[in-house]
Amino acid sequence: MDPRGTKRGAEKTEVAEPRNKLPRPAPSLPTDPALYSGPFPFYRRPSELGCFSLDAQRQYHGDARALRYYSPPPTNGPGPNFDLRDGYPDRYQPRDEEVQERLDHLLCWLLEHRGRLEGGPGWLAEAIVTWRGHLTKLLTTPYEQQEGWQLAASRFQGTLYLSEVETPNARAQRLARPPLLRELMYMGYKFEQYMCADKPGSSPDPSGEVNTNVAFCSVLRSRLGSHPLLFSGEVDCTDPQTPSTQPPTCYVELKTSKEMHSPRQWRSFYRHKLLKWWAQSFLPGVPNVVAGFRNPEGFVSSLKTFPTMKMFDYVRNDRDGWNPSVCMNFCAAFLSFAQSTVVQDDPRLVHLFSWEPGGPVTVSVHRDAPYAFLPIWYVEAMTQDFPLPPKTPSPK
Ligand code: GDP
Ligand code: MG
Repeated sequence: MDPRGTKRGAEKTEVAEPRNKLPRPAPSLPTDPALYSGPFPFYRRPSELGCFSLDAQRQYHGDARALRYYSPPPTNGPGPNFDLRDGYPDRYQPRDEEVQERLDHLLCWLLEHRGRLEGGPGWLAEAIVTWRGHLTKLLTTPYEQQEGWQLAASRFQGTLYLSEVETPNARAQRLARPPLLRELMYMGYKFEQYMCADKPGSSPDPSGEVNTNVAFCSVLRSRLGSHPLLFSGEVDCTDPQTPSTQPPTCYVELKTSKEMHSPRQWRSFYRHKLLKWWAQSFLPGVPNVVAGFRNPEGFVSSLKTFPTMKMFDYVRNDRDGWNPSVCMNFCAAFLSFAQSTVVQDDPRLVHLFSWEPGGPVTVSVHRDAPYAFLPIWYVEAMTQDFPLPPKTPSPK
């Protein structure tokens, strides 16, 4: 059937229909890499606005108490021999993944600091507020072939807030997570414990528990193209030895990966894992990722530092490699798409952006539960209170 109608007689009334009443195709955004291979877009050097910590009970503190200190084994010594399975499962306190925290901890920080944000009054009203991890997923979308995502978006007092929604697929996979995968997750945190000390001068203590409730988060300001950004990301540790001790350049991201033995294995690592590592650390300006390579028995005996800004070199001449410009151009295009889709300013209204590999980003509209994510305590405090002046006179 011709949706426009083939009956000549009906044509006149249809043509007379006002332009804005014509059926419009639902808006969507394509994700093919070829569409985003322009020059690298503007990305403001990320600056740290502040930080916060989550304790062993997942309670928020507006300070750096959970920050740890990079403390690798001495380079002249025997080298590492970390047993990443040690303490599993008896010394493991995993975070409760059923608790959907959404943007809450970041909003808590923002509520406290909204009156004295750099960028001047009105900066926040133009900004996009989200987690670093959500932006990482946007950056890698043009190359992702496995896992889709959903991002809920609400506009409130001008600001666009983006909060991830666990997809039905992701939830099913999490609930059915195989025991070996659970142990592998533990091993990543155990590696951090072998590499980090609680105080600048001291040594790591691998005898303690691994509690994944504990987190140190940096809050950063940047801008992608015309989009001012305020986002927060969990930071593994700071390097007390680094020449520039100023965040985020002092921060170090720690990763584990399978030991590799063939050029084919290395190539696949560069194509897939380095893309994710690059996207995650480039966004907040973390300059180095330190990898521990584990053998099949779960021991790390070698470390390698990957400077974030050199990661692209490994795939620069690879036809099946990734390109940072594609990642950033797609992210900028998505942010423009979201900004123009979410027109109404209403914290109870949610535009849900959904993506599955092979398709475009699509949109659906919702009100209140279960998708609305800006908490009542945040909306009320932002609505009733005026932003506070600085608590103490500026030291400058
Ligand atoms: P990442 O880049 O994916 O590690 O995520 P972020 O650094 O943006 O983390 C933002 C917040 O989400 C922090 O409080 C993290 O502790 C928390 N977080 C990190 N990964 C997960 C996860 O897989 N599930 C949930 N619910 N929270 C997470
Ligand atoms: Mg890490």
